[in-house]
Amino acid sequence: MAQGGRLLNQRFNAILANDMNATLFYLIAYYGDLGLSSNGMVFYLIAFGGLGLSLLAVWRVKAAYAKYSGVPNSTGLTGAQVAATILQRSGIYDVQIVPGNQPLGDHYDPLNKTLVLSPDNYSGNSVAAAGIAAHECGHALQHQAAYAPLTLRMASVRLVGFANMTVYILPILGLFLHQLSLALTVMCAAWGIIMLFNLVTLPVEFDASARAKRILPQLGLIRTQDEGEAVNQVLDAAALTYVAAFVTSLGYFLYYLLVVMGGNRRN
Ligand SMILES: [Zn+2]
Repeated sequence: MAQGGRLLNQRFNAILANDMNATLFYLIAYYGDLGLSSNGMVFYLIAFGGLGLSLLAVWRVKAAYAKYSGVPNSTGLTGAQVAATILQRSGIYDVQIVPGNQPLGDHYDPLNKTLVLSPDNYSGNSVAAAGIAAHECGHALQHQAAYAPLTLRMASVRLVGFANMTVYILPILGLFLHQLSLALTVMCAAWGIIMLFNLVTLPVEFDASARAKRILPQLGLIRTQDEGEAVNQVLDAAALTYVAAFVTSLGYFLYYLLVVMGGNRRN
């Protein structure tokens, strides 16, 4: 549940789209008689391995959420009330807590200082709602503390948007213009930027969850060991989706790096 409005399903769709695009690129470059010489097995391993990992991560989030969104927390507070309590007790008074309209669309928007909670988490009093609300507050706390990885991530949102676009358009264009080396170099650079962005996202997400797990019992918002375990399961499953995205982008980056460095022409 990242800040900046990137939702779980969007994230998965983006991974799927990247996979399809990379595969299309590979097929054109290899079979389109453009002279790409590389190990197809390695490519398919990355493409399908990344997809499998992402599917597994999304499935785990949905399973953990399905389980714990039905278990009421012991305080009876809604996600919105949990978030309000954490922000107030942390001296954050300028962040708005608003209901979103998408399931699992919870995120903190640092530009508008808005904490968006999905409908079930906003008005529901489940232990999952408390955990996710606290995680998003973790991002607000990072923002308040000018936590360096969050600052870096915010600063690179535009660049990574550009890299994502580049991955789609330029390489395919390059292939049709029979500029294989250029297309491969662009693909490598764009995946490098996406990989670095996903890398910076990891400490941001893990730290937000660590803050949530600390502050919930501190403020008496969760009281039992079972509640703590439930929060851990929900937040750890969510973290895995970010790990999957990073591993996939690292795979693509290394693949294109090796192809570019090793020379890509078939003799
Ligand atoms: Zn997050």
